[in-house]
Amino acid sequence: MTAALMYEPGDVRVEQVEIPAIGPDDLLVKVAACGVCGSDIPRMNFSGAYRYPLICGHEFSGHVVDAGANVTGFAQGDLVSVPPLLPCRNCESCAEGNFSLCENYDYFGSRRDGAYAQFVDVPADNALLMPKDLDPRAAAMIDPSAIALHAVLKCGDMTDKRVAVLGAGPIGLFAVQWAKLLGAGEVLALDLSEEKAQMARVAGADLTALTSEEALEAAGRGFDVIIETAGVPPTIALAPNLAARHGHAAFIGIPHQPVQLDKGTFSNFLRHEVSLHGSWNSFSAPFPGTEWTDSADRLSDGSLKWEFMITHELPLAEVPGTMKALADRSIFSSKVLFMPNQP
Ligand SMILES: [Zn+2]
Ligand SMILES: [Zn+2]
Repeated sequence: MTAALMYEPGDVRVEQVEIPAIGPDDLLVKVAACGVCGSDIPRMNFSGAYRYPLICGHEFSGHVVDAGANVTGFAQGDLVSVPPLLPCRNCESCAEGNFSLCENYDYFGSRRDGAYAQFVDVPADNALLMPKDLDPRAAAMIDPSAIALHAVLKCGDMTDKRVAVLGAGPIGLFAVQWAKLLGAGEVLALDLSEEKAQMARVAGADLTALTSEEALEAAGRGFDVIIETAGVPPTIALAPNLAARHGHAAFIGIPHQPVQLDKGTFSNFLRHEVSLHGSWNSFSAPFPGTEWTDSADRLSDGSLKWEFMITHELPLAEVPGTMKALADRSIFSSKVLFMPNQP
């Protein structure tokens, strides 16, 4: 099969390798679509992974082509979406149903081979059967939707709340939609890019801001809920500053630089008794959780929009060049999908 192998950060080669052999509890999945996660860009360009060579890619869907002897409940041709984290199901976090915080997890595309390949070995416990009519590209976008929902759910009841979403990449675009679906009132999206702000309006944002100043101006007495998805120090530091009294801010984005809160920001956090929530991964019990099943349902019934986010659909041959272009920001992108089995 064709696969993109990372030999070290910055050295990704498209090669022919053996189709993976599956164990008795596994499915062989023919990859339909695999999205680029924001985390792939540092992983494949400078920060690296746990072993080499490694096939990266963890936001994926595909069709079942073979099943191990112990597997029940799946048939050839079934469309599945694959939660990227494989919880150990033994540690204290897993015992409590907090699979996102598993202390001994495995992970597609960073610890085990992922889906920038034509086929993947998927333990059946990690395959989520999709509704028959769902587009496989949408099924590959459940991870960013579920990550957004996991964060939104940490911020309490959304009914009539004023919500600010910082960063209008795919996770931010899903956060805007989830806030609205769960009853939020006014939703503002902040992004430095006019094109991404426009996408946020398509997602349903009532207001957009291109700068922190515009967001602060729109805040008035503050937002009840802030969802930080950009992961850069300026927006992380902005979040507590935008919060209303007893507001909630949930943080998804992963910074690669130190984050400093100035005195005024910290003062707003204290004086408004703001609750700050870390949000990690996308899972709850029973695994993979309602974040995943609700996302599948809402993508399937059309209430979550997804197709407008796709800026690229590419063959595997484009993986090395695209990862470099994304790192040096020489292309505009929102959701980039690789389609490993399309010519
Ligand atoms: Zn990811
Ligand atoms: Zn665990």
